[in-house]
Amino acid sequence: MKPEALVLAPLPDFLMQPLQEVCVCHDYFHAQNKDILLNEVSTHIHAIVMAGGSVAPVELLEQLPGLKIISVFGVGYDGVPVDYCRQRGIQVTNTPDVLTDDVADIAVALVLMASRRLGQAERFLRAGEWARGAFPLAQALRGKTAGILGLGRIGKAIAERLSAHGLKIAYFGRHPQQVAYEYYDCVKKLATASDFLIVACPGGMATKHLVNAEVLAALGPQGTLINIARGSVVDEQALVAALETGSLWGAGLDVFENEPQVPAELMGSDRVVLLPHVGSATHETRLAMANLCVGNVAAHCSGQPLLTPVF
Ligand code: NAP
Repeated sequence: MKPEALVLAPLPDFLMQPLQEVCVCHDYFHAQNKDILLNEVSTHIHAIVMAGGSVAPVELLEQLPGLKIISVFGVGYDGVPVDYCRQRGIQVTNTPDVLTDDVADIAVALVLMASRRLGQAERFLRAGEWARGAFPLAQALRGKTAGILGLGRIGKAIAERLSAHGLKIAYFGRHPQQVAYEYYDCVKKLATASDFLIVACPGGMATKHLVNAEVLAALGPQGTLINIARGSVVDEQALVAALETGSLWGAGLDVFENEPQVPAELMGSDRVVLLPHVGSATHETRLAMANLCVGNVAAHCSGQPLLTPVF
């Protein structure tokens, strides 16, 4: 008999089809009445499959006595109560590495778009304004400093790319690393030293609002905030205020605190570049992520070592 899985997110066909070969899947995300579904299947559930942005609350996991594995389709697992899972012996897997290049590319795109005001420049041309005069001058990259908050897999890939654009790299994390970049032991000091502050650390309670009003003030009126990590890391209201008062040059954001809601003040601001969480959104990468996500469930169900365990 196939093991049973609860699916907590809308997942693509190229993930669901191979998953259904491994498990009987129950669509919790789309279920009209989640309580009825849980009443019917909760005692049979062996696996949870979810996306990076979805949440698996402890209250739900407590109703699944046979749960053995949570497989996240994404590298960020801030929606998983990891300590609880560790205590209960529930294994947690994610999809690291395969998305690193795509997400780093989007970070660089946001740096370029924000510094050169490319979104605004395109809107300027399409509105027919070019005939009335040239687009205002923007900011160069060469010689500037990019401060990376979270120099992990994605942070390092961003650092390599921005080094090639002539930027100096600095970083903050909980530990200094054996790298050629300058380490700062607090976010505010990193922001003070940076022209671009690039958020690339995990989300969750440990990093909630790490980028607050004080950090944005330290980044300063010539500074730009880039966030490709999680919306929760940035205090969005403080960001709106900094943009409105001109105490920040601009921002490039792929992620938001309450996705898919984006604050009206950001939607109306020409100083920000806004993307709908597309960091890993390419055919090639999403397929590689799907293979890892299903591969972890399959490995677990057949007693093989997990491909990418979180702990
Ligand atoms: P990673 O390799 O684990 O790197 C995370 C980095 O953050 C590490 O260098 C770590 O360094 C640092 N860090 C961890 N906790 C921290 C804390 N409390 N304060 C400061 N720094 C901290 O992860 P990754 O693969 O690069 O992915 C990073 C994040 O990107 C993911 O967690 C995910 O949320 C996000 N992401 C977004 C998208 C998108 O579509 N926009 C796609 C993929 C990933 P220390 O251990 O030294 O602190």
